[in-house]
Amino acid sequence: MKEQFNLIATAAAGLEAIVGRELKDLGYQTQVENGRVRFTGKAEDIIKTNLWLRAADRIKIVVGEFPAHTFEELFQGVFGLDWENYLPLGAKFPIAKAKCVKSKLHNEPSVQAISKKAVVKKLQKHFHRPEGVPLQEVGAEFKIEVSILKDRATVMIDTTGSSLFKRGYRTEKGGAPIKENMAAAILMLSNWYPDKPLIDPTCGSGTFCIEAAMIGQKRAPGLYREFAYEAWPWMANDLIAKARQEAKDSIDETVVLDISGYDIDGRMIEIAKKNAEKAGLKNVIEFKQMRLQDLKTDKINGVIISNPPYGERLLDDKAVDILYNEMGKTFRPLKTWSKFILTSDEGFETKYQQVADKKRKLYNGTLKVDLYQFFGERVKRHA
Ligand code: SAH
Repeated sequence: MKEQFNLIATAAAGLEAIVGRELKDLGYQTQVENGRVRFTGKAEDIIKTNLWLRAADRIKIVVGEFPAHTFEELFQGVFGLDWENYLPLGAKFPIAKAKCVKSKLHNEPSVQAISKKAVVKKLQKHFHRPEGVPLQEVGAEFKIEVSILKDRATVMIDTTGSSLFKRGYRTEKGGAPIKENMAAAILMLSNWYPDKPLIDPTCGSGTFCIEAAMIGQKRAPGLYREFAYEAWPWMANDLIAKARQEAKDSIDETVVLDISGYDIDGRMIEIAKKNAEKAGLKNVIEFKQMRLQDLKTDKINGVIISNPPYGERLLDDKAVDILYNEMGKTFRPLKTWSKFILTSDEGFETKYQQVADKKRKLYNGTLKVDLYQFFGERVKRHA
């Protein structure tokens, strides 16, 4: 099987640079592109990045790339790749996804069918199986993806399985949760560090607080879930076990954290507590039922991160207007605190009655949202 892999970490639009930074911190050289960050590594790097990347969506192996203007070119291109180095005899290998953008080939189901035929033919040849007799697909699954952008095909195998935002700790999520990897990315974008107080005054299922505590305690986000590669025969079990053990050993429960989550809805507070416990963070975060209008603190230099209700989601427009206005009145007196507020409401600054120091466009799923950033006074002076 393969020694060295060309790899891609996929990321939501706007989060590529964050994923790039995470990969660099893990020791990789990277190339940041739209929606993806490229790097290379061995089997253990597939394991490590799946376990440790907080903001990425998936890790994929790039099997090959080639021009594909016609179905013939696509077939020959896929056939020409070294599938025998990835797919053991008996493996399941669905062409799980085909995507065509700005390309002559645009019929995605046909791209899937042609690609499948090409892989089958290659494996039949390699394993000396007669043509016409279908290969048995009974073993581990390797999900293949074909993406054609401007007539160039990239053929990949997904190593992750269900997306990396699914950490496994959030069993209940309430009405409008933020994705775990988006929450982690926003924390990494913010000026919060584990030695600063953090408050999420609209914490819902507790995602921001839990992700922050995981960062603070150096908990690998993937420790409580499984990955597609774990079923692959050529992924050595001892490598997987070693990486998991290292991740467990890295947890530091002695770090002093000051993380609080509040919500007006007592049921959400119960859910947040359960999720935190599931993430191994029992009694690490303070969760309490409280209206954000009642938020007061004497602490300084903290960070508020909030993903309040948006009009389209939870509250009617009038109620949102009032809520955002009250947020401004409540948060503004906390002068040394930085505030990061994520909402799709383009009138946010007017309602909050303050122009943000910085705005950043992000996508919460398919919904365009902005991260409004207000920096605390001390931070501003030193900047
Ligand atoms: N980020 C959260 C989702 C937040 S949804 C998660 O990942 O689950 C917005 C939350 O704001 C809801 O849970 C809602 O109950 C809460 N909320 C609405 N009005 C509030 C108020 N006045 N004070 C505090 N919380 C409020």
